[in-house]
Amino acid sequence: MITLYGKSVYQDICMGKILYRPNGTDAAWNPAQLTGPVIIAAKDLTPADTKPLVPENVLGFLLEQGSSDSHVSMLAKSMGVPALIAMQAGSLEEYNGYQAILDGENGVAYIEPDEETRAELHERKCILARKKESLQALKGKETVTADGSRIHLYADIGSLQDIDNALENDAEGIGLLRSEFLYLENQDFPTQERLFEVYRQALLKMENKRVVIRTLDIGTDKAAEYFKLEKEINPALGARGLRVCLNRPEIFKAQLRALYRAACYGRLGILIPMVISLEEVLMVKEIASQVQKELSDEGTAYEEHVEFGIMIETPAAALISEKLAREVDFFCIGTNNLSQLTMAIDRQNKNMQSFYNPHHEAVLKLIAMSVQAAHKEGKRAALCGELAADGEMFETFINMDVDELVITSDVLLEARKKIREIY
Ligand code: PEP
Ligand code: MG
Repeated sequence: MITLYGKSVYQDICMGKILYRPNGTDAAWNPAQLTGPVIIAAKDLTPADTKPLVPENVLGFLLEQGSSDSHVSMLAKSMGVPALIAMQAGSLEEYNGYQAILDGENGVAYIEPDEETRAELHERKCILARKKESLQALKGKETVTADGSRIHLYADIGSLQDIDNALENDAEGIGLLRSEFLYLENQDFPTQERLFEVYRQALLKMENKRVVIRTLDIGTDKAAEYFKLEKEINPALGARGLRVCLNRPEIFKAQLRALYRAACYGRLGILIPMVISLEEVLMVKEIASQVQKELSDEGTAYEEHVEFGIMIETPAAALISEKLAREVDFFCIGTNNLSQLTMAIDRQNKNMQSFYNPHHEAVLKLIAMSVQAAHKEGKRAALCGELAADGEMFETFINMDVDELVITSDVLLEARKKIREIY
């Protein structure tokens, strides 16, 4: 038996045969033809790689790279299967065809497990299933501490399919729909009609619940060839998120047109990623009013009054959040980027983990500052990213007066349970 360690993004346990997906060999990758369920292993998987996967054929994911909010991690959570990422192993290719157990509770993969390990993990899987079952009783209950402090729980989703899971787990709305998948799963730009249809479906599915759709946040690890973004020495500090949209207004306008049109079908909030300045926010608002004028001039149906929010995920935005709060309806504080940029550490860099402190005082100060700035202007402040789902921090966030936690559906009821136990 070989034991490999990694980071788990979904707490479940599975057992089965590994199928390794080699990189850059599309001809060999035909998951639609799989005849039985397998553990998919790879260096990493893009939305285009996972698009043909049929859920019945996937037991779990095992990745050499990856991040906890990548598309495949979001997919694993919505499928309810374990995924181990950033495995501390060389290439996983040598395990192709081997039997394995993925232990998503502890971030361990057992290759060719012995009998004793199999029995122990089987027992633990049953315990996990019972624990999940007991959380069902929390559906319909309020997310409130014993002393009456309330916080709202919204879902963080990566595709339209995740909405069923959000509803199933009693999300009060969608706090972050990452629209990148629409760009990353295909080889060319989605048409405005496709964007409109997906946004409209999201709003219709959620009925009168609020749906916050983030405009394209592409760049760095979320790259699509057809954007033809220049190769950069430091892409994490380069063309990404809003910057790509402001440099390529035709891409941005197509999204805004689709969003304002779709807004006729529900309660929409538009969210702008990677903001660093007031000027950017004013530019976005200017483009948004141009788009509305064009829709109005051509007689296309659209909704004029749509909530407008920005991500506070750069230290720059947090530090000028008082100014920014005057221009927007809400903040969504993105703890993934905010943490990385504040500590100047790439979370995906396995060698830097000993320096990375998810509860760094500087990050918490920036969060608190942004929440206060929003409230001073009578605006709402949501918290998203990995830290938002950290049970150890719920009390701190409630004390900071955070209005909403935006977390993946799989941990929503568990979060409600923990918050209701706070005195
Ligand atoms: C964040 O930065 O916290 C966030 C939610 O955005 P992403 O993970 O997509 O960068
Ligand atoms: Mg971010």
